[in-house]
Amino acid sequence: MNEIKFFECPSCGARITGDKKFCDYCGGKLKVPEEKKKSTEIDSQSSQVKPQEYARTVYIQKEQKTTSGLAVAAFIMSLFNFNIISLIMGIVANSRISKPDSNLTGKGFAIAAIVLSTIQTIFWIIWGITICSVTNYY
Ligand SMILES: [Zn+2]
Repeated sequence: MNEIKFFECPSCGARITGDKKFCDYCGGKLKVPEEKKKSTEIDSQSSQVKPQEYARTVYIQKEQKTTSGLAVAAFIMSLFNFNIISLIMGIVANSRISKPDSNLTGKGFAIAAIVLSTIQTIFWIIWGITICSVTNYY
């Protein structure tokens, strides 16, 4: 399932992942409610769990990632030989995707755009030099 399990710190509300005994942020003790204790240990009147004393278990849906439109556009541009534009767009898209808090994907498109437009630019430069040197001979 696309879910992340958290424990919510009862004192500061921070969300802690994994089995930890203390909060990463405030150092507060995280009491994780255990499976029902033996009934003899629990006084019938206080048998209900007081929610504020316990680390609440929270399930959070993982953020849905979206493909960067800019990366796709850069890739398409590189296919049509708009090399300088697609190179710039590819670099911008790649840096946006690479940000740690980014919810964008499509790094493959951004890299492909950068590589393709670089190769094509080099190709056109070589082609240009070749044409110039050939025409100079005649
Ligand atoms: Zn805390």
